[in-house]
Amino acid sequence: MGNAMTDKPKRPEPDTPTSPKARGMKSHGKIAVSASIKPRALMTDTPRYAGVWTAKVITLFPSAFPGVLGESLTGRALKDGLWALEPIDLRPFGEGRHRNVDDTPAGGGAGMVLRADVLGQAIDTAQSGVTRDRAKWPILYMSPRGRPLDQAMARRFAACDGMTILCGRFEGVDERVLEEYEVEEVSLGDFVLTGGEIAAQALLDATVRLLPGVLGNEASTEEESFSAGLLEHPQYTRPATWRGRPIPEVLMSGHHGKIADWRREKSEQLTRERRPDLWESLRRNRDEDGAD
Ligand code: SAH
Repeated sequence: MGNAMTDKPKRPEPDTPTSPKARGMKSHGKIAVSASIKPRALMTDTPRYAGVWTAKVITLFPSAFPGVLGESLTGRALKDGLWALEPIDLRPFGEGRHRNVDDTPAGGGAGMVLRADVLGQAIDTAQSGVTRDRAKWPILYMSPRGRPLDQAMARRFAACDGMTILCGRFEGVDERVLEEYEVEEVSLGDFVLTGGEIAAQALLDATVRLLPGVLGNEASTEEESFSAGLLEHPQYTRPATWRGRPIPEVLMSGHHGKIADWRREKSEQLTRERRPDLWESLRRNRDEDGAD
C-alpha cells in the first residue's frame, strides 16, 4: 500500500496499476491525499510540489481533509494540480505506546493541552524542504485568539509559496510552540470551535480560490464582497418575475453604465447599513489617499 508521502512527485497516470485510483485510494489528482503513517516516512529533503501552492495541515483528524475542499472548484483545482494538500497526522508523533499527544495544563484547570515536543516534531517534519522565510511560507495556528481572517489575509496567503496550518484540539497548544516557530494565529471569528479543522478548511477555501486558474473566471474575485472594501450588491437571475417580485428594472435595461452605477450604489448602501466598521475604514483610507 503506497504512502502518499513516499510517492514520487510525479503525477500518476489515470488507471495505471500504480495510480491511487487503481490502488483503491481516494485520488485528488497530482497527489493522493492520505493520512501519514510513520513520521520517518514523512521526512523529505526536497519540496515535493515544486511550484505548486501547497498547504500542509497538522491535525489529529487527517481524514477530515480535503473534506469540503474536495468539492466543486477547489476540488477540481486540487485534482488538476493547481494546488496541493498534505494532511499530516499528529498522532504518530505522540509519546509512548499510546502515542499521547496531550497532557494536563501546567498550573491546573480543565482539559488537555497539545504537547510542545510532539507538535515540534510534527512541525519540523512539515517544514523539512520548505523555505524558512515565513513571509513566503507562514506557519499558522487556527485559534480564537488570532487575528480575524479577512480577505486581505487570504490574498497575502495566496501570494505565498504555501503554508503550514496547525489545527488545535482540546484547550489548545503549548504556548512555547507558537513562540519557537513564529506562528501566526488566525481566528475564524469570535466564537469557539472544538477544533481547528473547520477553521483551516474555511481559511484554505478563501485562499485557494484566489490562486490563478482556480475560479476560471478571474473577474469574479474582483467584483465580489470585500475586494473593493464594500459588500456585494444584490444578485438576481431567472425567472424575471418570481412570486410577484420582478428583477429591478435597471438590470434588465442592458445599459451597462446605469447598471454599474446601480450596483455601486447598492454596495455602498448595504455596507453603510450592515457594516459601519467597514464603511468607516473605507472612508478613512479614501481620505488618506486624498491627502497624499
Ligand atoms: N481554550 C481555547 C479554545 C480551544 S478550542 C481558548 O479559549 O482560546 C480548540 C481548538 O479549536 C483551538 O486550539 C483552535 O485550533 C480551534 N478553534 C476554536 N475556535 C476557533 C476560532 N474561532 N478560530 C479558529 N480556530 C478555532
